[in-house]
This record gives sequence, structure tokens and C-alpha cells, in this order.
Amino acid sequence: MLIPHDGSGPAFSVRVPYFALYFLTGLLIFSVCLVGSSFVYSSILSRRLAHYYQAIAKNREQQAIINSFSLETNRVQTALVELQQQDNQLRQLLGLKSWQSKVKLTRNFQKSQLADEPQAMIEPVVQKMQTAHQKLGEQRESLADLKKWVNQARERFANTPSCWPLYGRIVSSFGYRVYPWRGFHTGVDISASYGSAIHCTADGLVSFVGWQQGYGKTVIVDHGYGKSTLYAHCSRFTVSRGTKVKKGNLVAYVGVTGNSTGPHLHYEVREGGQPINPVAYLNLNVLTASRTWKGN
Ligand SMILES: [Zn+2]
Repeated sequence: MLIPHDGSGPAFSVRVPYFALYFLTGLLIFSVCLVGSSFVYSSILSRRLAHYYQAIAKNREQQAIINSFSLETNRVQTALVELQQQDNQLRQLLGLKSWQSKVKLTRNFQKSQLADEPQAMIEPVVQKMQTAHQKLGEQRESLADLKKWVNQARERFANTPSCWPLYGRIVSSFGYRVYPWRGFHTGVDISASYGSAIHCTADGLVSFVGWQQGYGKTVIVDHGYGKSTLYAHCSRFTVSRGTKVKKGNLVAYVGVTGNSTGPHLHYEVREGGQPINPVAYLNLNVLTASRTWKGN
């Protein structure tokens, strides 16, 4: 019932049934619960949504990192292929036919695939890195092989006749000749003044010092690997049989002993005891020398 304050008007009464009162109260409680629960739910939802967006952003970030890793892996592989090619080129330059690189890489490596799942993206990268690691190991072995060859080559080169025993004009070359004596000339005659120094053309052991028919005063140096050098028509020796000599060591002086028409050096290079053309052995470096070695 509603009664006006000044009492001038009639009282206004409304009959409200009990069930309506219960219903309204129930509706009010339900509405409060609904509003409350939807508020809670929406706050949970918005928090989840924020997490979701964060996860998406993080995922993109990770994808970008994986992509950059993948690109880097490709670069590593390309660098490895180039390294192997250079390795092979170096072997070719050195004339190492039987020293092929131990690294077998193909240029057709797979480009990294773009996948949605980070796991699917990581696997190829991991595989590539494992392959790269293995290839690096092979490359290391290959380089160790090359280093071994270079060291062996250096040692062998020291024992290979590779320079002039003295500088001068070649007045008579290797091979058949008619002057000054008809026959096969077993070495080269290098013009030099009397008393000029004669240098050994490789490391070795002096195997003969003395007089030989036709050659006069002669020095023979054994260089191992079946090679020896002979210096003839000398005037004086500076070494004796059994002396160890190094490339460039003085072994004798130029003279006119034996069948000689004037002071000069008769120089021979022998292989297995047989004279070979010494001209090929007057100017050698380790590369050109390596081509004269058998079984490299
Ligand atoms: Zn001669």
C-alpha cells in the first residue's frame, strides 16, 4: 500500500500475491548470480585470450628464430661444400690423383621447409647440423691427410735433384752426339771456369769419391728413392765417401780431369743406376718434383 505524505490524496494499494514476491526475489537472486558469474567468466576468458595472443606472438618469434637457424645451417652446408671443392682443387693442383678428398658432399641438400609446428621445423635443422658436424670431421681428416702429404713431399723434395750444381751455359746436352766424341752423352756439360764451386743438387750420402775412366775425378751422391747424381771432371773434392750432404753443399771444384777438352762440369742424374736427362731436374719446385715421383 502507498500513502501520500501530506495525506491529501487517496491511498494507493496494490495486491501482490505471495508467489509473485517469491518469483521476483528468485529472479533478483538469479540475476545477481548471472551477472556475477558472467563477470568472473569474462575475466577468466579475457585472461586466457591474453595468454593465447602471447603464445601466438611467442610462436612467431620462435618460428623466426628457427628460420634464421635453418638459413644459417644452409650457409654452413654451402660453406662446407665450397671447402670440399677447394680441398679437391688443391689435391688436383698438387697432382694427388690417389689422394681424393675423404669428404663426399652433394650440392643438392634440401632447403629448409617452412612448417607450422616448431618441432617439424627443428628436426631438419637438427639433421643438417648433425650432417655438418660429421662432414666437418671428414674435412678435418682430409686436411690432416693433405698436411701429411705436404710433410712427406717436403722430405722427398729435399732428396730430389732440383737445382743447377753450378750456373753456366749447357755446352753439350744429354743424348746421342758426334762431338767431341761419338756416342751417347749420359749427362749435360755445363760450361764453367776452372775452380768454380760445384754444389750438390739434393740431400744424400756421398757414395763415391775418386777417379773413373773417362770421367776423371768424380763425386757420386746417393739421394735414396733410387736416384743419384754424378759430378765429373773435377779438380778437387771437398767431401769423402760416406759424407752426408745437404742440397746446395759444396762437393767439389771444376777441373779438366778425364776426357775433357776444357774446364766444365759433366753432370748426371741417375735413376736405378741408369742415366736420365738431367735437364728436367735443373729447375724443380715441390710441385713439379712431385710429378716425377712414382706412387704418389
Ligand atoms: Zn759430359
